[in-house]
Amino acid sequence: MTSTPATPPAARALPFVVTVDRERCNGVGICEGCAPEVFEVDDHGELVIKAETVPDDLRPAVADAVVSCPTTALSLTPGAAAPPPPRR
Ligand code: SF4
Repeated sequence: MTSTPATPPAARALPFVVTVDRERCNGVGICEGCAPEVFEVDDHGELVIKAETVPDDLRPAVADAVVSCPTTALSLTPGAAAPPPPRR
């Protein structure tokens, strides 16, 4: 039996993170139509991002949401999601 060598860290793709500028977001939900697995506008018209770190298979749909957003409120960048704020 042969073993498959582990992928070196430098060869792995960076995850992509999606963020919203809440000052720009109007809550209409075009992004939700593009990628409902990642975006949802709640009953108060607030955008909820369900997966800040975007799964590879959803990256095209999220990229479509970014370019479709009429207020350019969304950003998709390589990197890690920000840690949650500290508890008080
Ligand atoms: S498409 Fe843009 S403006 Fe509309 S809900 Fe999504 S992020 Fe907000």
